[in-house]
Amino acid sequence: MRKIDLIVLHCSATRETQEYTPEQLERDHKARGFVRAGYNYYIRRSGEIVPMRPLEQVPAHVRGHNRSSIGICYEGGLDAAGGFRDTRTEGQKESILILLKLLIIRFPGSRICGHRDLGARKACPCFNAEEEYAGL
Ligand SMILES: [Zn+2]
Repeated sequence: MRKIDLIVLHCSATRETQEYTPEQLERDHKARGFVRAGYNYYIRRSGEIVPMRPLEQVPAHVRGHNRSSIGICYEGGLDAAGGFRDTRTEGQKESILILLKLLIIRFPGSRICGHRDLGARKACPCFNAEEEYAGL
């Protein structure tokens, strides 16, 4: 297993009123030249956790930080009008928390943060992940 010390949250930047399936995500990432979806996990609006890329494989999700990180993306991040918003459902919040708790046991001491906390000029993941998960 590669060394992991960073867990990064993303949103899919799709509207909360719009379904964005793991298949669409995979297709869109392949269109960008990735061999498969760039994230390790995808969290559907239902709360379903979909493994996208095995943990031992380096994800492709945040410039300069891929090698030692895990990428988690939740479906949503935009409101019905296309504005940035924390659109996480109760199911997503629950699943993200469970997943993070498991990952932090497996990779103790890892930093948990959002894409935007790593210098990206983006709103992603549309909530303050670093603050929300500081206690894990
Ligand atoms: Zn992102």
